[in-house]
Amino acid sequence: MIDKLNKIGEEAKQQISECSTLEKLEELRVLYLGRKGQVTELLKSVSSVEPAQRPAFGASVNRLKVELSDLLDRKKQNLESASQGAARQKESLDVSLPGRKLLPGHRHPLHQIMAEMTGIFHGLGFTVAEGPDVETEFNNFDALNTPPDHPARNSQDTFYLKQAGLLLRTHTSPVQIRTMLSQKPPVRIIAPGRCYRRDAIDASHMPVFHQIEGLYVDKQVSLADLKATITHFARALLGSKMKIRFRPHFFPFTEPSVEYDFSCVFCQGKGCRVCKQSGWLEISGAGMVDPNVFNNVGYDPEIYSGFAWGLGVERVAMLKYGINDIRHFYSGDIRFLEQF
Ligand SMILES: [Zn+2]
Repeated sequence: MIDKLNKIGEEAKQQISECSTLEKLEELRVLYLGRKGQVTELLKSVSSVEPAQRPAFGASVNRLKVELSDLLDRKKQNLESASQGAARQKESLDVSLPGRKLLPGHRHPLHQIMAEMTGIFHGLGFTVAEGPDVETEFNNFDALNTPPDHPARNSQDTFYLKQAGLLLRTHTSPVQIRTMLSQKPPVRIIAPGRCYRRDAIDASHMPVFHQIEGLYVDKQVSLADLKATITHFARALLGSKMKIRFRPHFFPFTEPSVEYDFSCVFCQGKGCRVCKQSGWLEISGAGMVDPNVFNNVGYDPEIYSGFAWGLGVERVAMLKYGINDIRHFYSGDIRFLEQF
């Protein structure tokens, strides 16, 4: 029996030390120390040993049992910590890897230049007025002295809504009407915002675009004030050498009306391909507020006069940044946007 005990002991110790997985180790525990395990069976066989040797044999089996139990526990701990170590290795941080760059967003170039333009007019005492994109036909056309048969009112130029009398504003000028209807003169506002026209998309047209509209109403306001205001704006935005010029024009809501040009930012007025050798770039329209418009909002044209102008934000941004296609602003192309 002692030989059998020693043999089981040798085999068990060797198998435990060679064991490499927790599953296999559990199998070994059952094999030797389980209810029907080999060491357990030895203990049960103590009664078959000669009485004189029983105490010594029993003590030997118990020693083996304790020894194997210790060995199994220690092996289990080793295997567990080894597998945890491997898992940690897998998740560990490799500080030599290049980091992932966080790309902070920024304002869209159109909003950047609108903020800059607004800032310049703020400096002249203008405040920002806002109005809705969906306007009434009255605010967008009638109150602005635009007759019913004017081509701008054609549904091929204007987006009308199903509900009668509503449209997507074609310019920011209805904000002038809203402002004058709600307050007494003097008025000194700019109205930045989106406008909509049924234009086919090309390098210089989009069906949605931005304007900054301006309106100044007070006693004794003259065309010279308009020219000074726009000249100051042009020089603040595009440089102190900018010149402006007025050309006679017609708009229903101003009298007299002008179109105004900036000296060419690409050739400084010498003449180049962009300005078609003229040295001037067309910017937008302006003029003295038509007395009919004042009548429509209840201002007395005998006492008050005023000027108004429009500015295409995209147009000015294209000149300032040398962009040749308005569609870039709306493409969402990150390579374009990242340059601003
Ligand atoms: Zn030029």
